[in-house]
Amino acid sequence: MTDQATTSSKPMPLHERLYRTEAIVLSRMDFGEADRILTIYTPRHGKFRVIAKGSRRPLSKMGPHLEYFARTRLDLARGRELDVVTAAETVDGHVGLGADLDAFGHASHCCELLDRLTQDRQEHEAAFDLLASSLRLLSDGVDPFHVARHYELALLTLLGYRPELYRCVSCEADLAAEANAFSSRLGGMLCPRCRGADAGSRPLTINAQKYLRSLDRRGLAFVARLPIADDLRAEVEATLAAYLRHVTERDLASLRVLREMNQPYDAGSSV
Ligand SMILES: [Zn+2]
Repeated sequence: MTDQATTSSKPMPLHERLYRTEAIVLSRMDFGEADRILTIYTPRHGKFRVIAKGSRRPLSKMGPHLEYFARTRLDLARGRELDVVTAAETVDGHVGLGADLDAFGHASHCCELLDRLTQDRQEHEAAFDLLASSLRLLSDGVDPFHVARHYELALLTLLGYRPELYRCVSCEADLAAEANAFSSRLGGMLCPRCRGADAGSRPLTINAQKYLRSLDRRGLAFVARLPIADDLRAEVEATLAAYLRHVTERDLASLRVLREMNQPYDAGSSV
């Protein structure tokens, strides 16, 4: 009998079956009569789904600690398909989000982005910290525009998609203060001479380029003090949104390719 067979035939010891983690509730859905399935993000285990049994009952003790975007401390038991929440306690309920529709919408955007850009059980403690601090700032009433753009740029950087903002991605020349263009496909700026390298690139005003560089170099505390006109907000937001869309779609496409490559192998595998 191999070690593996011995292990799998024994019931898992209690201390291995139970664990505790902090988590942020990214999304949730009703399940059955009174349960909820939550997608959570944790510092050590990344993103995964758990079930909170009975949490929709009016007298449920854990229910109030599992609100949208709440930072909470969970006791979990490993389950066959989904781990089960056995206790929950709020660390930061981000109560400010409940009173401000704009902040709530931006919190939802931040959570959805992390959900879309990460795989299950992929540890990324810095991403957890970034989300937690961004939700806190939104709840505190900091301008959601600045918080969300900072979050997007920082998350892209953490996950390996940092856009090139200082040099042309084609000829590598330092960019001059002129109307350069942003290419989502090439992951950064193109100088006027190289603009043809991507027909889908979008021209960026000097102010939009300055904003993105300030965000990158000087951080949120600096840009949050800048007065910023509506048309500049729209331009910066659309540029980052286009790049995020490109990154997400490319990732989904590469996952599809991986699945297709694995299928014949699985089917023919005798293991
Ligand atoms: Zn160039």
